[in-house]
Amino acid sequence: MADPTETACPTNPGTDPSEALSCLRRVFGYDAFRGEQETIIERVVAGGDALVLMPTGGGKSLCYQIPALVRPGVGVVISPLIALMQDQVDALRALGVRAGFLNSTQDLDERRMVEAEFLAGELDLLYLAPERLRVESTLRLLDRGKIALFAIDEAHCVAQWGHDFRPDYLALSQLHERWPDVPRIALTATATEATHGEIAARLNLTDARHFVASFDRPNIQYRIVPKNDPKKQLLELLHTEHSGDAGVVYCLSRRGVEDTAGFLVANGIDAVPYHAGLDAATRAANQSRFLREDGVVVVATIAFGMGIDKPDVRFVAHLDLPKSVEGYYQETGRAGRDGQPSTAWLAYGLQDVVQQRKMIDGSEGDDAHRRKLGAHLDAMLALCETVECRRVRLLAYFGQASGPCGNCDTCLTPAETWDGTIAAQKFLSAVLRLARERRQKFGAGQIIDILLGKKTAKVIQHDHDGLTVFGIGTELSVAEWRGVVRQLLAQGLLAVEGDYGTLVLTDTSAEVLGRQREVLLRREPEKPARAAKSSSRSGGSGKRAAPVDLPAEAVPVFEALRAWRAATAKELGVPAYVIFHDATLREIATVSPSSLDELAGVSGVGESKLAKHGEAILGLLGVPAA
Ligand code: ADP
Ligand code: ZN
Repeated sequence: MADPTETACPTNPGTDPSEALSCLRRVFGYDAFRGEQETIIERVVAGGDALVLMPTGGGKSLCYQIPALVRPGVGVVISPLIALMQDQVDALRALGVRAGFLNSTQDLDERRMVEAEFLAGELDLLYLAPERLRVESTLRLLDRGKIALFAIDEAHCVAQWGHDFRPDYLALSQLHERWPDVPRIALTATATEATHGEIAARLNLTDARHFVASFDRPNIQYRIVPKNDPKKQLLELLHTEHSGDAGVVYCLSRRGVEDTAGFLVANGIDAVPYHAGLDAATRAANQSRFLREDGVVVVATIAFGMGIDKPDVRFVAHLDLPKSVEGYYQETGRAGRDGQPSTAWLAYGLQDVVQQRKMIDGSEGDDAHRRKLGAHLDAMLALCETVECRRVRLLAYFGQASGPCGNCDTCLTPAETWDGTIAAQKFLSAVLRLARERRQKFGAGQIIDILLGKKTAKVIQHDHDGLTVFGIGTELSVAEWRGVVRQLLAQGLLAVEGDYGTLVLTDTSAEVLGRQREVLLRREPEKPARAAKSSSRSGGSGKRAAPVDLPAEAVPVFEALRAWRAATAKELGVPAYVIFHDATLREIATVSPSSLDELAGVSGVGESKLAKHGEAILGLLGVPAA
């Protein structure tokens, strides 16, 4: 594909710092570095090691791609994402970068060809699956070529207790022993202190400079809503705010995935399922549709998503409570990599708490492991129940201080707290009386019926209308009581036991019953927050809503550019975003360039893409050929 004689950036052993900037402009078509990219790139170009913690969409790839282009030799990128290597390489080739990969999906001939290119110095970047490095022949191959740097992508996979541990990553500590002079750059979007330390230790990054970027993703609007009828709530979100948009919907179970995908399809949404129970071919086909086409919604378990670098995912929705804040932030971070407004939406209810507590109790492993799971869940629950800015909470979890963001549900529609001490006492004493007077345990539903004084068949059958607590809680509705129970569980003032979700008191319940402790609860705002911009988007299904920040006259041009992009992507067999990102098309539609020179000034239009697509774009804009 790429012409081996042309090199994207001339390699320069003298490493002039301006080389990196000119590479950014020429190859990638961007004006300036973002955040710490420049310092990181300088460090690696000069031969130093780096450990980079940056959120998804922060711009990690350039941190190793540019040094690989500027330094002599081939940049070797270790990545666990075999299924995505082809797309990554295609995206680089579209920029005129000479990239290749070696992994288990290739046959011998394909591998030999890439190996020959590597040895001939005809590659700028070589992507390798970590397990390749366990094969002695790969190590010998690398010995025979010239290596510019090692980039260790998704470096958190080396962390044993993290959520994505991969044993093959442990072997990466040998890179330094075997090639002590080759700089290494490790990158991850996972940012807790613990993971950070473990990466540095396990990869022997003793002399690395650490770069910890802000983890804020200001373009993502965080919203957590009470769960009533989750599929319907989701459909409403799609219809009113994300019509025709690409998005990811996460469910906990395979059945949840199938149910939800089926429901969305039946309601006219272009949705596909993705979970580990589907055969590999179906999974690959569904992932490929999501990546390549515009506006596909993938409904998935957490098996989906790592390394998906589709820039224009407009929403990530969770229909079940994630197990940790770390996982939640990674999953939601897949929205809006292109920096455009996006939504992270989570529906959460009492049943989630009950289910997850049960799962933890029944989980394998020792007590320490269960305590760790419990602590993860508690942090997630605290995020759900907070009346403060969600973003402040999220960033605090990663050790970063911030102020109210103005772009989350609690900032947009502040939630109030109310003194729920009396309600808590009523509920806990009902649990206590059932246990003491009747030696019985029940789930939330029955206890709420008792408090509301409902003479249901089950209440009468158990003589529960004879309890002194019968009918003492009519001041709250069922939904409000469920909110109380959910929050008591979240605060550890109540616990779930056994397979039926029966409720029992905890050590701290007594403090509430004995009036030594106040209980502050969150009151759901009457009208949940919604994107301020949603009103400018057309509702209804099928037709795509107008892009948020586009002047009316530019909309038809943007649509024409998108249609051209879809056709071109299909013809070249690459994802649409490999041709140009939405943001680039949007800028073209807005500034309406009248020459190749002007087009070159648009962000995302580098030399190679200008040469390939410049004339077609100008033709589309009605500029007469020069
Ligand atoms: P990460 O790997 O950290 O998730 P990427 O490397 O995929 O992020 O970058 C996210 C998006 O930002 C990509 O679309 C990329 O092209 C774009 N980007 C990165 N750096 C810059 C920059 N300096 N100027 C403009 N766009 C950039
Ligand atoms: Zn906020």
